[in-house]
Amino acid sequence: MRKLPQIAILALQGAFAEHRKMLESIGGVETFEIRQSSDLERKIHALILPGGESTVQGKLLRELGLFLPLQKKIAAGLPVLATCAGIILLAEKLENDPQTHFATLPVSIRRNAYGRQLSSFYTAGEFGDLSAIPMPFIRAPQIIRCGENVQILSEYDHLPTAVKFRNQLAMTFHPEITDSDQIHRFFLKNMVLPAIKN
Ligand code: GLN
Repeated sequence: MRKLPQIAILALQGAFAEHRKMLESIGGVETFEIRQSSDLERKIHALILPGGESTVQGKLLRELGLFLPLQKKIAAGLPVLATCAGIILLAEKLENDPQTHFATLPVSIRRNAYGRQLSSFYTAGEFGDLSAIPMPFIRAPQIIRCGENVQILSEYDHLPTAVKFRNQLAMTFHPEITDSDQIHRFFLKNMVLPAIKN
């Protein structure tokens, strides 16, 4: 029997448990957490970068020796699903922070962009062909510029909130804390399974 797709979840800080729970409830995949470099010795078919604090995550990634190996895997085509702090880790440019991280996604990001009063809010909207997707924003960043070949899947207030670029699917909101698993299913069906077949 063929082994199930192996989904690695970066579990240094933030909302990693929620992603794991959602993927386990969808089923048909095996999930495991990445906390140290020995966790990268396993076969990895896809990676989840959860929300949280990107500054803390970036610092821990480097201190634990995870940064370069993961950056190499993402650049080489490993399917990635990134939410909130995760998109900050992927962004090529951060408008209000000189410290970028993986820099594999050609977008410019403004961190903590919705100000204090609007720092958390909820909406529902389209995500590509899907509709009525619940979208909680928590101290969310904004995608203020997209490079070439970046596909915009969702927008809020005239700015993109979810994008796809090659193997990277990234959004500024938190699908993992909602009761809709459609975005995770989209990722598995359109980005993870096709990459395994090839
Ligand atoms: N504001 C956080 C950061 O800059 C991201 C917030 C989140 O992931 N919910 O890292």
